[in-house]
Amino acid sequence: MIYFEKVTREYPNGTTALKDINLHIKPKEFVTIVGTSGAGKSTLLKCIYMDDKPTHGKIFVGGVDLTNLKKSDIPYLRRKIGVVFQDYKLLPQKTIYENAAFALEAAGMPTKEIKNRVPKILQLVGLSSKAESFPNELSGGEQQRVGIARAVIGQPKILIADEPTGNLDPKNAWEIIELLLKINQYGTTVVMTTHNREIVNAIKKRVITINQGRVAKDQEIGRYAI
Ligand code: ADP
Repeated sequence: MIYFEKVTREYPNGTTALKDINLHIKPKEFVTIVGTSGAGKSTLLKCIYMDDKPTHGKIFVGGVDLTNLKKSDIPYLRRKIGVVFQDYKLLPQKTIYENAAFALEAAGMPTKEIKNRVPKILQLVGLSSKAESFPNELSGGEQQRVGIARAVIGQPKILIADEPTGNLDPKNAWEIIELLLKINQYGTTVVMTTHNREIVNAIKKRVITINQGRVAKDQEIGRYAI
């Protein structure tokens, strides 16, 4: 589903964020990327959803070689990939319903279909009663659940989550992880980064440890060891 072949990302200032990364993430896997701050985790994720590009090497997502992808093809790729951010990145002037619906509107989906899908996704994330609220009326955990609703409403094959629990207390963090595990059980490949040792050790999923831009460890049932 996701292949990295000798992927290196050097920035013009001389920083090497990723160095010779080889990876294969299979369909329906749940993969956690761990590493110290600055290890290259975000850069790795950004290369998957084409917010960044390798300077050497190749990345394939769903059989598509990202090296040869034109800018105009990026929206097509993004339909296969949902992205969740640490700071939620919700649209503050729009309601929760509108935030969830936005990507579908942008993709030109008929209103009738949107009206059918949004309530289902709000129910999945447990926010049916908040449809008409605005983001600043929600707790951090609730806002992140909207972030997840927005990311999966287009039924992507892959969900990327960059530190999705980074701003949350332990209880809310666990609720978010349980939601990501549920989405994974429905068949979506999940790739997330986290610094949360307790969560990594409890979920018993594949853990890839990045150290100075290299894969230091890749364990099927991994532990947080940094
Ligand atoms: P992590 O997510 O593990 O904290 P990042 O992928 O954000 O790490 O960063 C990896 C390295 O690349 C760091 O040394 C960081 O300073 C550097 N870096 C990230 N983005 C840029 C950029 N746009 N320009 C230059 N260096 C960058």
